[in-house]
Amino acid sequence: MRRIAIVGAGQAGLQLGLGLLAAGYEVTLVAERRPDEVRGGRVTSTQLMFGPTLRVEREAGLALWDDTAPVMPGFELGNWLPESDPDTSLRRFTASFDDEVRSVDQRVKLSAWLELFEERGGRAEYRSAGPADLAAVAAAHDLTVLATGRGELSALFERDTSWPGYERPLRHLACFYLAGVDHDASDPVTEHARVTGVPPTGDLIVLRALTVGGTCDILLFEGKSGSAYDCWADRPSAADGTRRAVELLRTYAPWEYERFRDAEPTDPGAALYGAVTPAVRHPVAHVDGRPVLGLADAVAVHDPITGQGSNNAARAAASYLASILKRGDLPFDEEWMRGAFDAYWEYGRHTHAFTDFMLREPQPDEVVRIVTAAFEHPEIAHKFANGYADPPGYRDWLMDPAGVDAYLAGFGK
Ligand SMILES: Cc1cc2nc3c(=O)[nH]c(=O)nc-3n(C[C@H](O)[C@H](O)[C@H](O)COP(=O)(O)OP(=O)(O)OC[C@H]3O[C@@H](n4cnc5c(N)ncnc54)[C@H](O)[C@@H]3O)c2cc1C
Repeated sequence: MRRIAIVGAGQAGLQLGLGLLAAGYEVTLVAERRPDEVRGGRVTSTQLMFGPTLRVEREAGLALWDDTAPVMPGFELGNWLPESDPDTSLRRFTASFDDEVRSVDQRVKLSAWLELFEERGGRAEYRSAGPADLAAVAAAHDLTVLATGRGELSALFERDTSWPGYERPLRHLACFYLAGVDHDASDPVTEHARVTGVPPTGDLIVLRALTVGGTCDILLFEGKSGSAYDCWADRPSAADGTRRAVELLRTYAPWEYERFRDAEPTDPGAALYGAVTPAVRHPVAHVDGRPVLGLADAVAVHDPITGQGSNNAARAAASYLASILKRGDLPFDEEWMRGAFDAYWEYGRHTHAFTDFMLREPQPDEVVRIVTAAFEHPEIAHKFANGYADPPGYRDWLMDPAGVDAYLAGFGK
């Protein structure tokens, strides 16, 4: 039986590992933390996942929270300037999602998947792998996959300079998992995923999720450098950070302030601060002359503003699984590795390009035109909101100037 090593027990590594076990492979997983440490640790993401990738998990028998994780029925996008009167200057639309959208705290999901991995006969080795350690792992396995996310090992993979190179993050992130948020039945939009853009400051993203203690609300601040949302360098405790976050809402999204004014962190690990420097890397690195294959964030990572990273990780893991199964008994050589990445990247490149497009400064004219039209036309709002589940679709009518002209012409614009 072929022996496969996976380093990194995140969305991608665990999903691939469990898929390989189900297909009868012998799998070793190097994980930094044990299930209890993951479950009791700090939050890692907002992990909004869309219908297509939820189905990938379900088909693999890994959708363990279908009865407990809330489904967000729609999307609200707002845009305004805080110094203006929201009654007259706030523009927003609400659109329903056609497909399911959910968020299961990665602490809940990944700790359960790791337990499942061991129960199903996978070998978990608990440590942080270093480059020397990796050489031994690669020597002992037919294939070694690095699924270490934004961890240091991604530096083993050379940057792909055909993609925009960033030296620093585009946004400063702060994320809070909260209880005690007002969900008045007369205000159904509180069940929706919501984004409020304040052009000079950044974006506030709000969503519902299943966390360790049950359902919660998440705030994610996507702050522009030097703005009021870029205020987390001191890494406050979850309680202090929550107070600061709620104060920001009072100024920058007062309608959200009314909902969140009594919010408390769900647990001591309920706050996350950080930033992501976007990068696309070549998928193959060498350790002691042996090729290793990078997966998901380890080789292609972007700011979470468009909620694509976990979705990409799920798609990448499913695509690599199919490539491995198809390979049969033939060697997992460097050429095969590049082909496995290319097969995934046929899709992944579009989500990466979409996120890049949405984060450009100044905002591309195409985005301004489509979003402005969406405030007036529910049909455009609906198409825009549902596109997040499958970003390649944006190419023709959002990311291409002629496509935008043609699409908006149908609305007399
Ligand atoms: C604030 C924030 C919000 C986000 N929101 C969303 C969202 O709403 N929707 C969405 O789709 N995506 C979102 N993302 C992105 C998403 O979380 C990631 O893209 C996704 O988790 C990547 O999965 P992965 O398996 O590649 O890496 P990770 O989930 O990062 O997992 C990597 C694993 O490797 C382990 N590891 C690292 N180094 C080593 C080592 N040396 N040895 C052993 N193990 C190691 C780590 O401990 C970790 O368990 C968000 C990200 C952030 C930061």
